[in-house]
Amino acid sequence: MNFEKIITKHVQKLVPYLSARRIGGHGHNFLNANESPKSEGYFLNSSTLNRYPDCQPEDLIERYADYAGVHKSMVLTARGSDEVIGLIIRTFCEAGTEGILIAPPTYGMYEVAANTNNVLVATAKRETDFSLKAQSLIDAVNNSSFKIKAVFIDSPANPLGNIFEKSELEKLLKALPDTLIVMDEAYIEFASESDDYTSMVKDYENLIITRTLSKAFALAGIRCGFAVANENIIKAMLKVIDPYPIADPVAQIAVQALSDHGVEMTRDRVAKCNERRLKLKEALNTLPFVVKTFESVGNFILVEFRDGPKVFDAMVQKGVILRSFETKPGLKNCVRISIGSDAELEELMRYLKSLE
Ligand code: PMP
Repeated sequence: MNFEKIITKHVQKLVPYLSARRIGGHGHNFLNANESPKSEGYFLNSSTLNRYPDCQPEDLIERYADYAGVHKSMVLTARGSDEVIGLIIRTFCEAGTEGILIAPPTYGMYEVAANTNNVLVATAKRETDFSLKAQSLIDAVNNSSFKIKAVFIDSPANPLGNIFEKSELEKLLKALPDTLIVMDEAYIEFASESDDYTSMVKDYENLIITRTLSKAFALAGIRCGFAVANENIIKAMLKVIDPYPIADPVAQIAVQALSDHGVEMTRDRVAKCNERRLKLKEALNTLPFVVKTFESVGNFILVEFRDGPKVFDAMVQKGVILRSFETKPGLKNCVRISIGSDAELEELMRYLKSLE
């Protein structure tokens, strides 16, 4: 068979997605994927495993709607926010002719999902301090050579760790009423309550919020994410989503994580993680070869070293896996460090100090 002929042109150009573990290689201290350092215990009831689950498990949707403070008709669940991102693109962008807008440096999946779906990608510029202004996004949409259907903004941003200001979001939503504005709030639980923009979906029909249980809820392994948006957007996406995205065990665990007790445990986990982040930032700032630590409100910190690749490689040698952003525009010598456990961060600091 001639594979060149049967594979579509745009798929020929793609490269397979590598999991965080694969990118990390042979480490033991994984500080490269913004995961929680510790897993919690859950109960599984196997008596329902013979049945197909709901396409949108009702108790899970209800719990999340309650947690997010919206009506259940405004919530969709899928396999991680990664699937939600792809779903937004597949539902709203015409393949081959329309596109999305991103503001690099940003989460890589927006571009990956656009490429997989043969959807075009335009970029907007950030300010020199890496903050993002609505005007830059508005100009990029208005000046684009193709129609931009959705703007993807992560807040807290990955890897920068900063927030897209509420006043900027309001300006953007009003200036572009026919463009979807997707706020990726994967790390929102680590930020202040006032940085959570979910309640705005009631006022703006063009706003979609994406959320996940992978970060603050310490459940990256179950793959469970959400979209929160007005009912018409949710209905359109439900036409496109693959059947049964949430396996029964996933729904069972997610529902327990979203119980009052689960949410309480998450608050506690987040508070401890934020304390460790502040402590790590202070410790990093005492190292002479650290040029700058970015202000982050996520479960990670971006650090500019004098020689980023040297630090990254030295840590890999020790089995401590970080994430290098060396090749990303504006982030030369920058390495992102996930907030691991006390022991993991102490090990990291010990090895970093030995480089002095
Ligand atoms: N958004 C951002 C900004 C992320 O950093 C990540 C994961 N690293 C995701 C979304 C994807 O999360 P999920 O596990 O829910 O697919």
